Amino acid sequence: MPNPAAMTDGKQISVAATAIALRGVRLFLTAGKAAADRPVAAPSQPATRNKRKQKQVVAGGKPPQKVFDMLLKTSKFNKPELEALYTMYRRLVTSAQAAAPASAIGHPPKIDGIDQSTFRDVMHNTFDLVTEEAILERMWMTWERGAAGGEGSLRFESWVRGLSVLLRGNVEERRLYCFKVYDLNNDGYITRDEMFSLLRNALLKQPGDEDPDEGVRDLVELVLRKLDVDKDGRVSIDDYRQAVDQEPLLLEAFGQCLPSKRHAIAFLKTLVNKT
Ligand code: CA
Repeated sequence: MPNPAAMTDGKQISVAATAIALRGVRLFLTAGKAAADRPVAAPSQPATRNKRKQKQVVAGGKPPQKVFDMLLKTSKFNKPELEALYTMYRRLVTSAQAAAPASAIGHPPKIDGIDQSTFRDVMHNTFDLVTEEAILERMWMTWERGAAGGEGSLRFESWVRGLSVLLRGNVEERRLYCFKVYDLNNDGYITRDEMFSLLRNALLKQPGDEDPDEGVRDLVELVLRKLDVDKDGRVSIDDYRQAVDQEPLLLEAFGQCLPSKRHAIAFLKTLVNKT
Protein backbone atom coordinates (compact mmCIF):
# COMPACT_ATOMS: atom_id res chain seq x y z
CA MET A 1 0.00 0.00 0.00
CA PRO A 2 1.39 3.42 -0.82
CA ASN A 3 1.69 5.88 1.97
CA PRO A 4 -1.59 7.83 2.21
CA ALA A 5 0.21 11.09 2.97
CA ALA A 6 2.15 10.83 -0.25
CA MET A 7 -1.05 10.12 -2.07
CA THR A 8 -2.91 13.18 -0.95
CA ASP A 9 -0.30 15.78 -1.69
CA GLY A 10 1.90 14.39 -4.41
CA LYS A 11 1.64 12.94 -7.84
CA GLN A 12 3.29 9.68 -6.86
CA ILE A 13 0.43 7.54 -8.02
CA SER A 14 1.09 6.37 -11.50
CA VAL A 15 -1.69 5.88 -13.97
CA ALA A 16 -0.98 2.18 -14.01
CA ALA A 17 -1.22 1.90 -10.24
CA THR A 18 -4.53 3.72 -10.29
CA ALA A 19 -5.86 1.48 -12.98
CA ILE A 20 -4.83 -1.59 -11.03
CA ALA A 21 -6.41 -0.26 -7.87
CA LEU A 22 -9.63 0.55 -9.66
CA ARG A 23 -9.71 -2.82 -11.23
CA GLY A 24 -9.30 -4.26 -7.78
CA VAL A 25 -12.15 -2.18 -6.45
CA ARG A 26 -14.35 -3.23 -9.26
CA LEU A 27 -13.56 -6.93 -9.06
CA PHE A 28 -14.17 -6.69 -5.44
CA LEU A 29 -17.48 -4.91 -5.67
CA THR A 30 -18.91 -6.82 -8.55
CA ALA A 31 -17.69 -10.24 -7.53
CA GLY A 32 -19.00 -12.88 -9.85
CA LYS A 33 -19.98 -10.48 -12.58
CA ALA A 34 -18.12 -11.51 -15.67
CA ALA A 35 -16.28 -8.89 -17.66
CA ALA A 36 -18.17 -10.01 -20.73
CA ASP A 37 -21.37 -8.98 -18.98
CA ARG A 38 -20.44 -5.34 -19.01
CA PRO A 39 -23.35 -3.44 -20.45
CA VAL A 40 -22.27 -1.79 -23.67
CA ALA A 41 -24.96 0.36 -25.21
CA ALA A 42 -28.40 -0.18 -23.78
CA PRO A 43 -30.32 -2.38 -26.19
CA SER A 44 -33.52 -0.71 -27.24
CA GLN A 45 -34.58 -2.90 -30.17
CA PRO A 46 -37.15 -0.53 -31.56
CA ALA A 47 -37.93 -2.73 -34.53
CA THR A 48 -38.92 -5.71 -32.41
CA ARG A 49 -40.82 -3.57 -30.02
CA ASN A 50 -42.95 -1.85 -32.60
CA LYS A 51 -43.94 -5.07 -34.27
CA ARG A 52 -45.68 -6.52 -31.27
CA LYS A 53 -49.01 -4.85 -31.31
CA GLN A 54 -51.45 -7.69 -30.72
CA LYS A 55 -53.78 -7.34 -27.76
CA GLN A 56 -53.20 -9.43 -24.75
CA VAL A 57 -55.46 -10.32 -21.90
CA VAL A 58 -53.72 -9.50 -18.68
CA ALA A 59 -54.45 -11.45 -15.57
CA GLY A 60 -54.79 -9.21 -12.55
CA GLY A 61 -56.42 -6.25 -14.27
CA LYS A 62 -54.97 -3.25 -15.94
CA PRO A 63 -53.36 -0.08 -14.74
CA PRO A 64 -55.36 3.11 -15.25
CA GLN A 65 -55.28 4.00 -18.93
CA LYS A 66 -53.72 7.37 -18.18
CA VAL A 67 -50.78 5.77 -16.36
CA PHE A 68 -50.40 3.28 -19.13
CA ASP A 69 -50.35 5.93 -21.87
CA MET A 70 -47.91 8.06 -19.91
CA LEU A 71 -45.56 5.11 -19.44
CA LEU A 72 -45.73 4.22 -23.12
CA LYS A 73 -44.28 7.66 -23.78
CA THR A 74 -41.88 8.02 -20.88
CA SER A 75 -40.50 4.52 -20.41
CA LYS A 76 -38.62 2.33 -22.87
CA PHE A 77 -41.20 -0.44 -22.82
CA ASN A 78 -43.81 -1.17 -25.45
CA LYS A 79 -47.42 -2.12 -24.79
CA PRO A 80 -47.07 -5.90 -24.40
CA GLU A 81 -44.05 -5.38 -22.18
CA LEU A 82 -45.91 -2.89 -20.02
CA GLU A 83 -48.81 -5.32 -19.71
CA ALA A 84 -46.45 -8.09 -18.69
CA LEU A 85 -44.80 -5.74 -16.20
CA TYR A 86 -48.18 -4.90 -14.77
CA THR A 87 -49.04 -8.56 -14.31
CA MET A 88 -45.71 -9.05 -12.58
CA TYR A 89 -46.31 -5.98 -10.46
CA ARG A 90 -49.74 -7.23 -9.33
CA ARG A 91 -48.23 -10.58 -8.48
CA LEU A 92 -45.47 -8.99 -6.43
CA VAL A 93 -47.93 -6.78 -4.57
CA THR A 94 -50.18 -9.75 -3.83
CA SER A 95 -47.32 -11.82 -2.50
CA ALA A 96 -46.09 -8.89 -0.41
CA GLN A 97 -49.56 -8.59 1.09
CA ALA A 98 -49.69 -12.30 1.83
CA ALA A 99 -46.27 -12.19 3.48
CA ALA A 100 -47.02 -9.15 5.61
CA PRO A 101 -47.67 -9.90 9.27
CA ALA A 102 -51.26 -9.36 10.38
CA SER A 103 -51.84 -6.34 12.58
CA ALA A 104 -53.06 -6.53 16.17
CA ILE A 105 -56.69 -6.55 15.10
CA GLY A 106 -56.09 -9.35 12.65
CA HIS A 107 -56.25 -7.46 9.37
CA PRO A 108 -53.30 -7.74 7.04
CA PRO A 109 -51.83 -4.29 6.48
CA LYS A 110 -52.80 -2.76 3.19
CA ILE A 111 -49.83 -2.63 0.88
CA ASP A 112 -50.46 -0.66 -2.24
CA GLY A 113 -47.28 -1.26 -4.14
CA ILE A 114 -44.06 -3.21 -3.93
CA ASP A 115 -42.59 -3.10 -0.44
CA GLN A 116 -38.91 -2.85 0.34
CA SER A 117 -38.28 -6.50 1.08
CA THR A 118 -40.01 -7.60 -2.12
CA PHE A 119 -37.94 -5.06 -4.02
CA ARG A 120 -34.78 -6.45 -2.46
CA ASP A 121 -35.78 -10.00 -3.37
CA VAL A 122 -36.36 -9.08 -6.98
CA MET A 123 -33.02 -7.28 -7.20
CA HIS A 124 -31.27 -10.30 -5.71
CA ASN A 125 -33.12 -13.11 -7.39
CA THR A 126 -34.16 -11.73 -10.74
CA PHE A 127 -31.29 -9.41 -11.50
CA ASP A 128 -28.68 -11.20 -9.46
CA LEU A 129 -27.56 -7.97 -7.87
CA VAL A 130 -25.25 -9.28 -5.22
CA THR A 131 -24.61 -6.03 -3.56
CA GLU A 132 -24.39 -4.49 -0.12
CA GLU A 133 -27.44 -3.67 1.92
CA ALA A 134 -26.45 -0.01 1.85
CA ILE A 135 -26.61 0.02 -1.95
CA LEU A 136 -29.94 -1.79 -2.00
CA GLU A 137 -31.26 0.68 0.53
CA ARG A 138 -30.14 3.56 -1.66
CA MET A 139 -31.61 1.95 -4.77
CA TRP A 140 -34.89 1.69 -2.93
CA MET A 141 -34.77 5.35 -1.94
CA THR A 142 -33.88 6.42 -5.45
CA TRP A 143 -36.69 4.44 -7.02
CA GLU A 144 -39.30 5.39 -4.51
CA ARG A 145 -38.70 9.03 -5.14
CA GLY A 146 -39.16 8.57 -8.86
CA ALA A 147 -42.75 9.11 -9.89
CA ALA A 148 -44.87 8.89 -6.78
CA GLY A 149 -42.34 10.17 -4.26
CA GLY A 150 -42.19 9.70 -0.53
CA GLU A 151 -44.63 6.82 -0.29
CA GLY A 152 -43.95 3.66 1.63
CA SER A 153 -44.06 1.36 -1.34
CA LEU A 154 -43.19 1.41 -5.01
CA ARG A 155 -46.13 2.15 -7.24
CA PHE A 156 -46.42 0.81 -10.74
CA GLU A 157 -45.15 4.04 -12.35
CA SER A 158 -42.00 4.11 -10.22
CA TRP A 159 -41.44 0.43 -10.76
CA VAL A 160 -41.60 0.77 -14.54
CA ARG A 161 -39.49 3.91 -14.71
CA GLY A 162 -36.85 2.36 -12.52
CA LEU A 163 -36.79 -0.81 -14.61
CA SER A 164 -36.61 1.29 -17.75
CA VAL A 165 -33.34 2.83 -16.57
CA LEU A 166 -32.01 -0.43 -15.20
CA LEU A 167 -32.71 -2.46 -18.33
CA ARG A 168 -32.68 0.01 -21.18
CA GLY A 169 -31.29 3.21 -19.77
CA ASN A 170 -28.99 5.19 -22.00
CA VAL A 171 -25.54 6.21 -20.81
CA GLU A 172 -26.74 9.43 -19.23
CA GLU A 173 -29.71 7.79 -17.47
CA ARG A 174 -27.46 5.14 -16.03
CA ARG A 175 -24.95 7.71 -14.87
CA LEU A 176 -27.62 9.82 -13.17
CA TYR A 177 -29.05 6.73 -11.53
CA CYS A 178 -25.73 5.44 -10.15
CA PHE A 179 -24.77 8.92 -9.02
CA LYS A 180 -28.02 9.28 -7.09
CA VAL A 181 -27.50 5.92 -5.44
CA TYR A 182 -24.00 6.94 -4.31
CA ASP A 183 -24.94 10.45 -3.21
CA LEU A 184 -26.06 9.20 0.17
CA ASN A 185 -27.45 12.49 1.49
CA ASN A 186 -28.87 13.70 -1.83
CA ASP A 187 -26.93 16.95 -1.79
CA GLY A 188 -25.60 16.64 -5.32
CA TYR A 189 -22.05 15.63 -4.38
CA ILE A 190 -20.33 12.38 -3.56
CA THR A 191 -17.97 13.33 -0.76
CA ARG A 192 -14.97 11.58 0.77
CA ASP A 193 -17.16 10.51 3.67
CA GLU A 194 -19.74 9.02 1.37
CA MET A 195 -17.09 7.17 -0.62
CA PHE A 196 -15.58 5.93 2.59
CA SER A 197 -18.81 4.54 3.87
CA LEU A 198 -19.71 2.92 0.54
CA LEU A 199 -16.30 1.33 0.06
CA ARG A 200 -15.99 0.35 3.68
CA ASN A 201 -19.31 -1.50 3.56
CA ALA A 202 -18.04 -3.46 0.61
CA LEU A 203 -14.69 -4.25 2.18
CA LEU A 204 -16.16 -5.39 5.46
CA LYS A 205 -17.82 -8.25 3.68
CA GLN A 206 -14.45 -9.84 3.12
CA PRO A 207 -13.42 -12.27 5.83
CA GLY A 208 -10.04 -11.63 7.40
CA ASP A 209 -10.24 -7.87 7.02
CA GLU A 210 -10.33 -6.88 10.63
CA ASP A 211 -9.63 -3.23 10.23
CA PRO A 212 -9.85 -2.24 6.62
CA ASP A 213 -10.17 1.47 7.38
CA GLU A 214 -6.68 2.41 6.30
CA GLY A 215 -7.01 0.50 3.06
CA VAL A 216 -10.39 2.06 2.47
CA ARG A 217 -8.96 5.54 2.95
CA ASP A 218 -6.31 4.75 0.36
CA LEU A 219 -8.95 3.58 -2.06
CA VAL A 220 -11.04 6.68 -1.45
CA GLU A 221 -8.08 8.86 -2.38
CA LEU A 222 -7.38 6.81 -5.48
CA VAL A 223 -10.96 6.88 -6.67
CA LEU A 224 -11.38 10.55 -5.78
CA ARG A 225 -8.30 11.37 -7.83
CA LYS A 226 -10.00 9.83 -10.84
CA LEU A 227 -13.50 11.16 -10.24
CA ASP A 228 -12.90 14.66 -8.93
CA VAL A 229 -12.20 16.25 -12.27
CA ASP A 230 -12.44 19.88 -11.12
CA LYS A 231 -10.35 19.10 -8.02
CA ASP A 232 -12.62 20.68 -5.42
CA GLY A 233 -12.41 17.65 -3.15
CA ARG A 234 -15.85 16.21 -3.90
CA VAL A 235 -17.53 14.63 -6.88
CA SER A 236 -20.29 16.50 -8.68
CA ILE A 237 -22.42 15.00 -11.42
CA ASP A 238 -20.29 16.88 -13.95
CA ASP A 239 -17.10 15.37 -12.55
CA TYR A 240 -18.71 11.96 -12.58
CA ARG A 241 -19.92 12.34 -16.16
CA GLN A 242 -16.48 13.28 -17.43
CA ALA A 243 -14.67 10.62 -15.45
CA VAL A 244 -17.04 7.84 -16.47
CA ASP A 245 -16.74 8.96 -20.07
CA GLN A 246 -12.99 8.45 -19.80
CA GLU A 247 -13.18 5.28 -17.76
CA PRO A 248 -16.47 3.36 -17.95
CA LEU A 249 -15.41 1.09 -15.07
CA LEU A 250 -15.98 4.03 -12.75
CA LEU A 251 -19.74 3.93 -13.37
CA GLU A 252 -20.18 1.39 -10.62
CA ALA A 253 -17.08 2.18 -8.63
CA PHE A 254 -18.91 2.15 -5.30
CA GLY A 255 -21.05 -0.93 -5.71
CA GLN A 256 -23.13 -2.70 -8.28
CA CYS A 257 -26.49 -1.07 -8.87
CA LEU A 258 -27.21 -2.18 -12.42
CA PRO A 259 -27.91 -5.73 -13.59
CA SER A 260 -25.47 -7.37 -15.96
CA LYS A 261 -26.37 -7.31 -19.63
CA ARG A 262 -27.00 -11.03 -19.50
CA HIS A 263 -29.51 -10.73 -16.70
CA ALA A 264 -31.19 -7.73 -18.30
CA ILE A 265 -31.66 -9.60 -21.57
CA ALA A 266 -32.94 -12.71 -19.80
CA PHE A 267 -35.49 -10.64 -17.93
CA LEU A 268 -36.67 -8.81 -21.04
CA LYS A 269 -37.12 -12.17 -22.77
CA THR A 270 -39.45 -13.41 -20.05
CA LEU A 271 -41.61 -10.33 -20.67
CA VAL A 272 -41.99 -10.91 -24.37
CA ASN A 273 -42.58 -14.63 -24.05
CA LYS A 274 -45.63 -14.13 -21.88
CA THR A 275 -48.88 -14.58 -23.76
CA1 CA B 1 -23.60 13.83 -0.94
